Amino acid sequence: MKILVINCGSSSLKYQVIDSDTEHVLAKGLCERIGIDGRLTYQPTGQDKIKYDAPMPAHRQAVELVLKQLTDPETGILKSVDEIQAVGHRMVHGGEKFACSTLLTDEVLKTVESCNDLAPLHNPPTLVGVAACKELMPTTPMVGVFDTAFHQTMAPEAYIYGLPYEYYEKYGMRRYGFHGTSHKFVSQRTAELLGKKPEDVKVIVCHLGNGSSISAVDGGKCVETSMGLTPLEGLIMGTRSGDIDPTCIEFIAHKENITLEEAMTIINKKSGVLGISGVSSDFRDLEEAANEGNERAKLALDAFCHHVKKYIGSYIAVMNGIDAIVFTAGIGENSPEVREQIMEGFGFIGATIDPVANKVRGKETLISTPDSKVKVFCVPTNEELAICRDTVEIVTKKIVEDTVKEVLNK
Ligand code: ADP
Repeated sequence: MKILVINCGSSSLKYQVIDSDTEHVLAKGLCERIGIDGRLTYQPTGQDKIKYDAPMPAHRQAVELVLKQLTDPETGILKSVDEIQAVGHRMVHGGEKFACSTLLTDEVLKTVESCNDLAPLHNPPTLVGVAACKELMPTTPMVGVFDTAFHQTMAPEAYIYGLPYEYYEKYGMRRYGFHGTSHKFVSQRTAELLGKKPEDVKVIVCHLGNGSSISAVDGGKCVETSMGLTPLEGLIMGTRSGDIDPTCIEFIAHKENITLEEAMTIINKKSGVLGISGVSSDFRDLEEAANEGNERAKLALDAFCHHVKKYIGSYIAVMNGIDAIVFTAGIGENSPEVREQIMEGFGFIGATIDPVANKVRGKETLISTPDSKVKVFCVPTNEELAICRDTVEIVTKKIVEDTVKEVLNK
């Protein structure tokens, strides 16, 4: 099957066409500056990247251009849009309503809309993207794959906040967790690498990118994760503070004579390793600056690694054991230094990094020593492929259900 995978932001739209039989990417690209002016990037696999400006007043025009590009007689990879058998959409927040991926019927979309309160910046653009695709491909099934779904298996004691219970009941305030598609994909792959079933292993997934989160996956189910009601909680990130005393926000607003909203912008966009270092949110810049003797860049890296270590320790306690620790996403896949610093001193639980194996970047590798009881891996994440797999599963299941219904109706 040819599956179009869409990841919609407020002014951007990333896309990939994947052949689900071979799991090869046929083409990928990006629409940027939607609603401003518009720029399209398109790259058929094995060929040169094409980039041009084109007006995109709204997501509808962006999707239209993507479909036109995919079916272009010269550079396209499809003869007709009908070749796309399903579209998989990355959805951000599914609240407590979505514990797995689902077919996006009109009724389901209304339910997704009811979760907008929980992610007012992220959910509406994804819904706009789905609407645009539905309009232009009215007979093609659309599937929603939620960032929060994998974490829905957490027990109440793991997701409840120490707040008046009525806020949970009235507003759904609780830990949800994000990057679920990545945590699921990487934890399942780790079980495969261990030669075991997901049901039989305890894995900690460190998804360390611009946004970072960590999860404890016991028997294939998420039992803890570091992000919360929103992606702000948890680890220190590129520009997000992660865990802080909530009083800090009021304190900043008061001392800096700014509004609560302005203080929140600082916590979201000017904090994290950028805020500590004053250098950059990008770990390549931080590592370079630290190597040149910049003390604050070193402090930012140290604080980041310290927090990840602290979470790993607590998640081992939550699961009463550990079989594997796995690093993924931009930093997790590409920074041997960060991985080594995080894992330093974990010999006491039987997890020892092999400095030579750990030199790897962006490649699936066992990075612990051969005698390490707890295995440590670098496993590149692939959220698009995970969305494609879920989409195929849902669509084929739907076809089976429809066939059954048809048979029953006869
Ligand atoms: P996002 O959360 O935006 O999806 P990514 O997972 O793509 O983020 O991670 C992006 C981050 O990965 C960059 O900000 C950078 O800090 C880090 N990164 C990428 N390559 C390297 C590298 N070679 N060494 C260290 N860090 C890297």
